[in-house]
Amino acid sequence: MTHHLAPAPLLALTLPSAEVLYAALLARDPALDGRAYVGVTSTGIFCRLTCPARKPLRQNCRFFASPAECLAAGFRPCLRCHPLAPEASADPCIAALTAALEADPARRWREGDVAAMGFDPSTVRRSFRRQFGMTFLEMARQRRLREGMATLAAGGRVIEAQFDAGFDSPAAFRAAFARLLGRRPQTCRGTHCCRRTGSTRPSAR
Ligand SMILES: [Zn+2]
Repeated sequence: MTHHLAPAPLLALTLPSAEVLYAALLARDPALDGRAYVGVTSTGIFCRLTCPARKPLRQNCRFFASPAECLAAGFRPCLRCHPLAPEASADPCIAALTAALEADPARRWREGDVAAMGFDPSTVRRSFRRQFGMTFLEMARQRRLREGMATLAAGGRVIEAQFDAGFDSPAAFRAAFARLLGRRPQTCRGTHCCRRTGSTRPSAR
C-alpha cells in the first residue's frame, strides 16, 4: 500500500528555504524583493531582504511571504527599508495612517480618530483588510503589544502589561503575545525575552 506524503504547508510552497532566504538577506539580493520578508525577533522589526541595516543573527530571523504575515505575527515595519512602501503608495489612507501609527505607537486609536484625519472609516477598514488582512485598529493594537512587553521586562504583572498594551481582554492579550513570542506572558516577567528595543530605529551598520 502506498503512503502519500502529507501536503506541504503553504509557507513551504510560497517561500524558498530559510537557508536560501538567509543567504539572500546577507547578500542583500534584490531577486526576492516583494516576495519575502524577514522578521527579526530580537527587535520586533520586519524588513525587506535588501535592508541596508545591520544583518540579524540567523536564530533571530523568521521569514514571511508578505507584509501582512509579518504584521499578523506582531512585527512592525522597518524605518530604513520601508517594507510597506508599495501598499502606502497605492493608497493614501494607508500611507497617512501607518505614518501616524509610527509617530505615536502607544496611542489607543478609535474609529473617530480615523474620521478626524479626514478618512472614511469603512473605506479604511476595507483598504487595510485588502492589503494586510487586518484593520487599521487591529494593526494599532498589535503595535501596542510592545508596550506590554516593556512592562513585563521590567518585572510588572501580566495584568498591568495587558492594560499598558491597551488590551481589554486577558485572552486576547495572551493570544497576541503568544503569536509574537511563542510563549506565555507570565514566562517573560523580569526577563530579557521581550526587552524593549528602546528606539524604533534599527541599529546602524
Ligand atoms: Zn529594514
